[in-house]
Amino acid sequence: MKDLQTASWDNSNIYKNFQDPQIARDLETIEERTKVFQSKSALYNNLVTQLENNITTDLYNEMELTKQLTRLYLDTDVVFYNLAIYASMANSVNALNYEAKAQLDKVMMLSNEFMKAIKPLQLCVQRSPADFFMAFLDDERTKELTFKLTQSRKQLENLLSVNEEVLLTGFSMDGLNAWGKLYSDISGSMKVEIDGKVLGLATAKNLASHEDRTTREKAYRAVNKSWQQQEISACAILNSINGWRNENFKVRSTKKELHYLDQTCLSASITRETLQALMSTTYDKRSVGQESLNLMAKELKIDRLGPWDVMAPMPSTTTVPSKISYPEAIGILKAAFAEVHQDMADFAQMMVDKNWIDCADSENRAQGAYCSGFPGVREPRVFMTYDGSMGNVLTLAHEIGHAYHSWVMRDIPLTETSYPMTLAETASIFAETLVRDYLLKISKSNEEKKMILWQELESAQSLMINIPARFEFEQRFVELRKTKNVTVPETKDLMVASQKYWYEETLSEYDEMFWASKLHFSMAGRSFYNYPYLFGYLFSLGIYAKKDSLGADFHSKYVELLRDTGRMTAEDLILKHFNEDITKKDFWLKSIRIVENSVEKFKKL
Ligand SMILES: [Zn+2]
Repeated sequence: MKDLQTASWDNSNIYKNFQDPQIARDLETIEERTKVFQSKSALYNNLVTQLENNITTDLYNEMELTKQLTRLYLDTDVVFYNLAIYASMANSVNALNYEAKAQLDKVMMLSNEFMKAIKPLQLCVQRSPADFFMAFLDDERTKELTFKLTQSRKQLENLLSVNEEVLLTGFSMDGLNAWGKLYSDISGSMKVEIDGKVLGLATAKNLASHEDRTTREKAYRAVNKSWQQQEISACAILNSINGWRNENFKVRSTKKELHYLDQTCLSASITRETLQALMSTTYDKRSVGQESLNLMAKELKIDRLGPWDVMAPMPSTTTVPSKISYPEAIGILKAAFAEVHQDMADFAQMMVDKNWIDCADSENRAQGAYCSGFPGVREPRVFMTYDGSMGNVLTLAHEIGHAYHSWVMRDIPLTETSYPMTLAETASIFAETLVRDYLLKISKSNEEKKMILWQELESAQSLMINIPARFEFEQRFVELRKTKNVTVPETKDLMVASQKYWYEETLSEYDEMFWASKLHFSMAGRSFYNYPYLFGYLFSLGIYAKKDSLGADFHSKYVELLRDTGRMTAEDLILKHFNEDITKKDFWLKSIRIVENSVEKFKKL
């Protein structure tokens, strides 16, 4: 078994190093192909204009070319990913790797040019008549696009003319996107003062999981004080982003209404009905998340949690938890995975043997953990910094879960392997739950058991109360923004009302600045960046619930489901593989019952 010191990844099968001549060749390939697409821009722009005027004769003549070019851009994507992922992974290991940074910049620039060059071709296919579209997909070279393109054509009636779309994209650079950028500029340069010490925002926010309660509260108040000094700008950002979106939906609704929830549901591959079932069931069962908050308060020996306590670690007891060595952690993962299938355990071992995990500390190392991979050779990679804590073991399980997801899809065309945010956490949370259950089973003391279940309490209240409160706020804000410019006091009121609606009396006070301090509300590119987390959590638990009843049949069904995550809606996916209906409350109730059981277990201890 390899030890932690050697747990660094080996990517030399992709490029030997940043001097590898293959890098120059790949960059050249991209530039050449971009020129090919640029040379066809006029043709496709013309075809799109014809389509707008219902002229289709020329289009049918270009069927073969359209297929060829589409295949070419799909193949070029792989080259882009190899270059970008190789560089960004090197950058995570050492943030001061300037070769990596230079390569990333170069790829970003080329990618911009490339995207512009292929746009007319994409628009043409997207807006083509149904019979052309069918014939276009009926080909080995293009059929992997079937699901993605069919989804994108669901909103055909909400598309504007090509000129209008181009204009809108152009203006959104300094309109919509500029507001999101302003938010990151403000938060990036913000300083927070705690006890006379000046900290950056990120460092101050990390104190939310500090073991000392006074430190947590001080940090929380200091962060909010800094945001109060920026509240006029932060509120203008929210108004502008949502005002832009509302106007956008309005102009797209002349033929068919485009609701703000339609947009997010389409990108999440779910229906509004499913979203409704998810949210209303979670609301009915809000007592589960609330009970988690109460149990945490009890353990922390306080009456009620403050907003600064929700990420608190479990208070340390007499027994200092012993560190789990890296080989031990891999052993735990393998034993837990083997309870489902030996394949999963073997996969974890293979990740170690092939040096696909990088978790030894390094200088200028990035924070956090992620799973990535090289699309050319279809190999996953995991990044994290392992320090031997229980939380670390679960993170490792989580990321290897993601890796397993991509591994079981390795023979599927690339387009069909990219899944929506709602389904992205299926395999990771599944793996995490497996390991958590296994650890509970083998832990000897009640203290150890509590430590594991504490994480479950934190997930329960964060995903089943905090996330829905964010959803509630965003919905209320979007609605009010339709009628007026929302003021700072009104925004605070909306935030407090939304939290009250979900937390009820479980917090000692509400966080009225949360709309400003939480980045997700001010991301220009994506609205409702909240409920997919809740969806992923309960969806994965719903699948986990099938494990025991299906026994030996479970694993193959599970793998088949994972394989379809990039080419089916979430509703079709779970219906096909586990015969469940997620548009109904019952499915979600069953998942919540699993959380409820964990909460009960903690209570008994
Ligand atoms: Zn994840």
